[in-house]
Formats: sequence, C-alpha cells, structure tokens
Amino acid sequence: MIVKPDGVQRGLTGEILKRLEQRGLKFIGLKMIRIDRALAEQHYGIHKGKGFYESLVSYITSGPVVVAVVEGPSAVAAVRTTVGKTNPAEADAGTIRGDFAVSIGRNLIHASDSPENAVKEINLFFSAAERLAWDRSADAWILED
Ligand code: UDP
Ligand code: MG
Repeated sequence: MIVKPDGVQRGLTGEILKRLEQRGLKFIGLKMIRIDRALAEQHYGIHKGKGFYESLVSYITSGPVVVAVVEGPSAVAAVRTTVGKTNPAEADAGTIRGDFAVSIGRNLIHASDSPENAVKEINLFFSAAERLAWDRSADAWILED
C-alpha cells in the first residue's frame, strides 16, 4: 500500500497506518520515498491511455509518499475493505476514504487489487533487504492456527 502525497501532506500518515495496524495486519516493510515519473509509469502502467492517467502520474509524483508491505490473512481484501471504494463519495463511512476524502483524484491511499499485483508492486518498491520477516508477540491473539 501507499500513503499518497495528499495523505502525507495532510498529516494523515499515522492515522492511515494505525487503522491497518490496529486491525491486526502486520507491516513487514515501511519507508518514505519520492516516486519519480519512471516509477509512477511502471506502477500505474495499467491505467495508461485513460483520461485520468496524466493527472494520476502528476499526483503520485507531487510529494513524498509512504510505502508499506502489509501481511495477514487475505491481506489484499482486508486492506481494500479498510481503504474503501476508489471514489471517496461512494466510500462507506468507517473506511479511510469514506472518513477522510471527498475527491477521486485525492483519495489518500493506494492498495494492491490482487495478490498477483501485490507481488509485482512489492518487487517494484522494495528490495529483498527491505522486507523484514519478524515474529509479533501478539500473533497468537490475532491469528488462528
Ligand atoms: N483515479 C482518478 N479518476 C478516476 C479513476 C481513478 O483520478 O476516474 C485515480 C485514483 O487516485 C485511483 C487511481 O487513479 O486511486 C487508480 O485507479 P484504480 O481504479 O486502480 O483505483 P484504486 O485501486 O486506487 O481504488
Ligand atoms: Mg487500483
């Protein structure tokens, strides 16, 4: 997942990470970076040619972002339900977008949409050394065997 530039600029990085963390998802990679145009084009390649593509690339490269690798049971689905619908106007209250955003082009957060794309995106943004396997002492209270 990525806290987009609006999330960082609005001081919502902690709030966004908190919601995923308190749900029981585990961060196994986390860093602040500035996405350049080449990386943005790779990340958002599937949207190339769409009407919003140029504004999307300019938005995601407009300031620092916080990127994270999140682990957990059905992590992709869990993160996306916590994030809410792409258009914040349609996102349920209680979701990150439903609680903190009103514009589709300023929707605070990126979340991978499938396990296959998650693997591609993790490899795009994180080196092997930046991915940390660690034992969380609370796991027995969050994860069923
Ligand atoms: N987006 C936009 N206008 C649109 C559709 C998408 O500005 O009509 C932006 C928005 O920031 C969105 C991103 O493009 O988060 C990627 O779109 P996607 O459909 O993959 O949504 P997401 O997976 O982020 O919910
Ligand atoms: Mg998407």
